[in-house]
Amino acid sequence: MSDALRIEGVNRRFGDRQVLSDITFDVGSGRMTGFVGANGAGKTTTMRIILGVLAADSGTVTWQGSPLSKEQRRQIGYMPEERGLYPKMSVREQLIYLGRLHALTHERAKRNAADLLERLGLSERAEEPLQQLSLGNQQRAQIAAALVHEPVLLVLDEPFSGLDPLAVDTVVSVLRERTSAGVPVLFSSHQLDVVERLCDDLVIIAAGQIRATGTRDELRSRYAEPRYELRVD
Ligand code: ATP
Repeated sequence: MSDALRIEGVNRRFGDRQVLSDITFDVGSGRMTGFVGANGAGKTTTMRIILGVLAADSGTVTWQGSPLSKEQRRQIGYMPEERGLYPKMSVREQLIYLGRLHALTHERAKRNAADLLERLGLSERAEEPLQQLSLGNQQRAQIAAALVHEPVLLVLDEPFSGLDPLAVDTVVSVLRERTSAGVPVLFSSHQLDVVERLCDDLVIIAAGQIRATGTRDELRSRYAEPRYELRVD
């Protein structure tokens, strides 16, 4: 596994509770890495530390061997668990706005927005305020928002939860285009079967500790018998 993004020895407490203990894993260039664990295992906290919106008590987050800078963190394509778009703005408008915020030209932001809306099956709804869309379509819009500024790293918190299987496949094919261009993708899920199906590499977290990391095939053969050892809850 190459180490485009490396999380090393990250610890975090909330009050007297140790929520993350010595979290260490890599997200390789061009790899879809599934970060899987039960509710409360520490996935969102880890992702927020990668983003830099939360500080680690100790440990490092590096990008291609150097500490991830503030500017690099700002450029991450992030889809938060609690969705953060503007409910009253049209989907197209906010995608263009987000592209512009990340210094794309208006033309480029417009083109990227149109492309993503088309690929994610949102073109017909693009002029409607986000709040009028179904929850599934709102989620597709959130995924488009994470991608519109051409990020070199994607961190997606539960991007597939609540999507029907067809929508999951659509989103994965859009993400696969990015990994083919070398972009590392880290996505979280509490569903091991979903992650196993979609990812190249797995990082399994339970109670704030990494339980296993490796390629999907490595983990499959390592844990083939007994299967329950891969359980995350
Ligand atoms: P979920 O899918 O439910 O969000 P998760 O794996 O993302 O699960 P986290 O959200 O990272 O888990 O939470 C890990 C633990 O840290 C949980 O027990 C949570 O209650 C606790 N926690 C998270 N944020 C805070 C906070 N700001 N203050 C106190 N405790 C927190």
